[in-house]
Order: sequence, then structure tokens, then C-alpha cells
Amino acid sequence: MRKLLFVTGGVCSSLGKGIAASSIGALMEARGFSVQMVKIDPYLNVDAGTMSPYQHGEVYVTDDGAETDLDLGNYGRFTTAKLSRANSITTGQVYKAVIEKERAGEYLGRTVQVVPHITNEIKQRILAVASNPEVDMTIVEIGGTVGDIESVPFLEACRQLIHEYGKQNAVSIHVTLVPAVSGGEIKTKPTQHAVKELQEVGIQPDALILRSAKPLSDDVRRKISLFTNVEEEGVISGYDAPTIYEVPLAFYNQKLDTFLLRKMNVESRHAELGKWQAVVQAVTKPSRKVKIAVVGKYMDLHDSYKSIWEALCHGGIAHNAGLEIEKVDSSRLEDSNADLEAIFKGIHGILVPGGFGERGIEGMIRAARYARENKIPYLGICLGMQIMVIEYARSVIGWQDAHSTEFNKATPHPVVCLLEEQTRIKNYGGTMRLGAYEAVTKAGSFIRAAYGTEQISERHRHRYEVNNDIRQELEAHNLTISATTPNGELVEACEWPEHPWSVGVQFHPEFKSRPTSPHPLFKEFIRAALSHAGA
Ligand code: GLN
Repeated sequence: MRKLLFVTGGVCSSLGKGIAASSIGALMEARGFSVQMVKIDPYLNVDAGTMSPYQHGEVYVTDDGAETDLDLGNYGRFTTAKLSRANSITTGQVYKAVIEKERAGEYLGRTVQVVPHITNEIKQRILAVASNPEVDMTIVEIGGTVGDIESVPFLEACRQLIHEYGKQNAVSIHVTLVPAVSGGEIKTKPTQHAVKELQEVGIQPDALILRSAKPLSDDVRRKISLFTNVEEEGVISGYDAPTIYEVPLAFYNQKLDTFLLRKMNVESRHAELGKWQAVVQAVTKPSRKVKIAVVGKYMDLHDSYKSIWEALCHGGIAHNAGLEIEKVDSSRLEDSNADLEAIFKGIHGILVPGGFGERGIEGMIRAARYARENKIPYLGICLGMQIMVIEYARSVIGWQDAHSTEFNKATPHPVVCLLEEQTRIKNYGGTMRLGAYEAVTKAGSFIRAAYGTEQISERHRHRYEVNNDIRQELEAHNLTISATTPNGELVEACEWPEHPWSVGVQFHPEFKSRPTSPHPLFKEFIRAALSHAGA
């Protein structure tokens, strides 16, 4: 079968191409096809690992340790595609590979050019994923907006692939905006122009997904079809849904998937959408509420903690509970006048997520202390676990100056310090402890109860670790080391004694949570929060 589906965007950015691509993936999987997903990012960074969360949102990590665009997180939540380094392509990677080949003399004296050398490298990378015999369809999302300078080589590669594969094997889906001007009048002109722009680079879209606040009328769809040479059936209203998890159903109801299958000459199969319907039901009509405070430092940009918000939502789905999230900028808690009692009033659980750099750290430590002393369920992720250890060393062991050497190099009590292998590293890109590692959980711990297994595997992205020299001291003061690496060398999780539910993990469980299979730690955290709410 081996079909290619290209997803591009027009008019402006942030239209939700990632959700559109993911939803098409979910629908194809619901019909029993095996799907792969590729994200193309036309920036020059080799990967997203060195980009600020404020610039680019969360960095999503794959099992094989690639630091990728957060859209891969969407793919991972909507589909079961096995995502790895190969699923994320950037301009930086493509040029780096071509230049390295040129230096190695592989082009045999020829002039190295954007066409065909860069475009060939792009095509080769797409096909490396798409040619897997187990994959029926590969959805390739091209980041940015058609018309941007950066995306030109990618669109050219996509045009060539459509030409080489034939229209029956490679389809184009363009996501555009249909705004309403004051008075509510719907405007189709931006979409007409956006499609022209795509046609100019030689691509005729097969389907259009029109983003708008409200569902679009058939008249509007017909008009757009007329102006763009896209069949009316292929003009889909991508209206704002109450939850992103409803988008696959919205597309299904407009028969986008059967239309695309017809275009690709693939016989349609029964669609099994029960689990998506259940997800939407749980998110939009929960039977109870739970209120979680997330105390972090990148609070101004929602996308910085994208997978955390989603995983919390999934934890709620598991208990039919709607989530109310209180975003607390940790710097706010640093003011000596900050009234934690007031800030955490009515909160049923506190989560401290990952992060880098000193700002807001003391506030996180205060939040952890508040959760420990007031017996509020606590989930600490990566930095959030290190915070737990610092706080414990200060308040319980009595080392007032305990710190991580990330924030205080000279502390006499470095309870969190650089991993041995990190001490020699000079370059920033791709050099953290990255990707999936196994860990063993301790019998009788919260984490063991959550997973139900001794062996677990989770993804990491950090440079610092609990200092092994103080492990005994922590345990002597009853902090439970509830998971370690299989050789026992690194602390992977800890828990407070005499606490209703507290888990700090050195890894990032949020990356593996799906709405259709909530992650066990988030599920248990929300369960504990619900029982705290009840109590
Ligand atoms: N800054 C910490 C470290 O590098 C935590 C990283 C994180 O939270 N992802 O270890």
C-alpha cells in the first residue's frame, strides 16, 4: 500500500496542523491501517533540544533520545506510531548531512545544490520512515506556513514525491484559516490565496481543512471548492472543538478519512471509534472535578508544558474527573509575604514539572514543603523530584544550605549534582542523559503500586542526579528511594514517608500518556487528589 499524506498550512501559523495530522492518523488507525508520522521543521537548529521553552514550547523526547518538536507528542497521543529520531526532520539536520557528505567527497566533484542534493536528502529521510513494509500510510507534516522562505526546499521535495509516487499514492492536505470579520461575516479570500500559493509551488491540494471558530456552512465550503479545484467532499470544516480529542470525530463525521481513502484508491474498512467517543465523553461531561496546582517556571506559554497538561487530563479521564488547573509561577512563591495557604486553597494535588536554571527554584522548594507538611498529593517530575530531595535535606535532615549544584556550585551539601558522564561534556546539543532507560521499582512503594511491575522503562532528559554520597543519609531519615537504575547506581524515584501520595521521578512519564491509555503515575496522582478532595 505505502501511501504518503502531506499536511501543509496556509494563511498563518498555529492553526493546529499537528492536531489535524494526528487526527487523520488516529482515524486511519481506527480503520485498521498502520500509520507513521513525520514532522518537518524548517528551522536551522538540528533539533529542538537547545531551544528555549518560551520560543518553541516543550521539547518532546523519544525512546531513542531525540529531542524533538512538541508535535511528536501529539502524534504519540493520537496514534500508536513508534516514534524515533527518524520521525523529526529539520533544515539543520538536512544541511548538516549534505555538508558532511560534501566534505567527505561523496558528491564526486559535482556542484552541490538545493535541488537536487538538499531535496534528495529530504526525500530520502521521508522515505526511510515511509518505506517500512509494516507501514501502510505515512503522514508528513510540514511546519511553518506555505510562502515562508524556509519551507521552499521541503515543499519542492514534497512536490517531487507526489509526482514520482503518483496522485493515487501521495495526497496533499492543506490546513487554512477562514476568519469571521466583525459582524460575523465569513471570509474565504485568505484561503483562496493560500491555496494559490501552494499551487504556485506545483502542489494541488486534494483536501482542505478550514480552521474557523464555528462549523462552516455548505455554501462556504462550495464556494471554496469552486475557487480552489478541491472537490467539495474534500473541503472539511475544522471548527474549534471543546477538546482536541474531538477532532478525529469531527473529521470522521465529515467523511474526511473515506474521502482520502478514495483518493488513494484504498478500500475503506470499518472504523472503530468507541475509545475516542469515550475520551470525548469523559473530557466534556466529567462526573466530578479535581483541582491541581502546577508550580513551574515557564507558565506564560501554555505549550511549554504541553505533555504535562495532556497527561493530567488523561489522569482525569481515567476517573471521569474534569481537571481544573491552577498555574502557579514558582517565582510568585518566593516573596516572603507569599501566602501559600491562600495560593493552595482548594487544591487537591501539587505537581512540580521539569525545568532548567535558577529562577523560581526557591518557590518550588516552598511548594514541595507545603505539599509534604500538609499531606497534599505531590507529583515531582525530573526537576520536581530534585526539588523534593533538596527540600527534604533542608527541612528534615537540617542541612539549610542543601542545594543542587545546578543552582549553587559551592554548596557544602550538594544533594543533587552533575551525573559523572556529564562532567566532561562541552557541547549543549543532544548531550543530556536522553531517552528511555529501564528502572526497577521498590516493592511496597507508591510507584510500584501505580505501575504494578518491578521493571519499568521511561524517558529521560536531564544532566543532574541525586548525589550518591548522601543517599544513605536520605534513607536514614526515611526518604524512600522507590526506584533506581537496574544496577542500583542512579536514583530514579523517591517518596516521602507518612504521606498520602508522593512520587518524585527523575524521568518524564508525561511523554508516554495517551487519552486512550492514561499513564499510571498520572492516573494514581489524580486518584490520590480525588481522595484528598473527598477527605
Ligand atoms: N535541570 C535539571 C537537570 O538537568 C532537571 C531537568 C529536567 O527537569 N528536565 O537535571
